[in-house]
Amino acid sequence: MINVTKTFLPPQAEYNAILKKAWDAGWITNRGALVEELEARLKEYLNVPNILATTNGTLPLQIAIKALGLTGEIITTPFSYVATTSSIVWECCTPVFVDIHPEYLTIDETKIEAAITPRTSAILATHVFGNPCAVEEIETIAKKHNLKVIYDAAHCFGVTYKGKSIFEYGDVSTCSFHATKVFHTGEGGALFTNNTALFDKLFYHHNFGHKGALEFYGLGINAKISELQAAMGLAVFPYIDAILKDRKRIVELYAKELNEFQQLKLREETQWNYAYFPILFDSEEQLLKVSSSLNEKEIFPRRYFYPSLDKLPYVNGTTSPISQRISKRIMCLPLFYKLDVNIQSSIIHIIKGS
Ligand SMILES: *Cc1c(COP(=O)(O)O)cnc(C)c1O
Repeated sequence: MINVTKTFLPPQAEYNAILKKAWDAGWITNRGALVEELEARLKEYLNVPNILATTNGTLPLQIAIKALGLTGEIITTPFSYVATTSSIVWECCTPVFVDIHPEYLTIDETKIEAAITPRTSAILATHVFGNPCAVEEIETIAKKHNLKVIYDAAHCFGVTYKGKSIFEYGDVSTCSFHATKVFHTGEGGALFTNNTALFDKLFYHHNFGHKGALEFYGLGINAKISELQAAMGLAVFPYIDAILKDRKRIVELYAKELNEFQQLKLREETQWNYAYFPILFDSEEQLLKVSSSLNEKEIFPRRYFYPSLDKLPYVNGTTSPISQRISKRIMCLPLFYKLDVNIQSSIIHIIKGS
């Protein structure tokens, strides 16, 4: 069976050797040596000034909303994973959807200003499939209207835009280290900000609000990553360049062979991470036909992202016709380290023949 992704598992002996350090120290959570080592490695690799590793990629979104003190309406994208919207609702704010660009698939920055009201406090947008939003235009709009900017950069491990880590854009960026993502710790994620005072605040929010053992800075939650998760990250880390290189090979073959289909348009000056390979069909009917032909051969692509988030049962307000139209017609093809070239050729063959 071939799924849209296959988790990269490092050699078990290498994972065990790292885990042994936790055993020897008798310390498996509360920011032990392995978490610190993972953060140090990632900070250097990603070339960012601050990183806080967390237990998943969703709590960072909620913590960012909390730490920035956001209230009222948050302008967001309807084309993302559900966590982007649910985090807004969970933090008692109202998501206001602004439709997406039909080719970049990120929030359409030219439509943001029309959605701003006196209740708007922030913009929370997703760099979809690792493709950056129009970060400069969004920054200009945010400054003009005194709004905060959070980027759901769950897909963006290793992505740079104009030579700088994509995690450096916005007031806060988040990443996911879920097992399905390019770099993973099983479950995991991270928070990024260039603002040191804000970083301190994010840090205490992620650890119950603690100020030492006996005092509290304020409200907090538990988003700590464990030593066991960090050990997985440290075991995967040495392979990251090989993983990215192999993904590039697979993406380039899909891109060449499936050029009669609409593919993701990358924003100029992006160094991408080959996180996903979506193709757009002419109709949902065609998508379903191709999908069932693939399923017959035990190949399971995924409909990322479906449904458009403005259709969620717990949101109301404006609808996003472009996002709805695209989410019905888009499918992500199998893409993972060491995807066999013969299997990939048969996937391409089935798609072209359906
Ligand atoms: C995966 C993902 C998340 C959530 O990350 P978890 O680590 O699974 O909590 C959030 N946003 C987007 C866009 C994602 O793809």
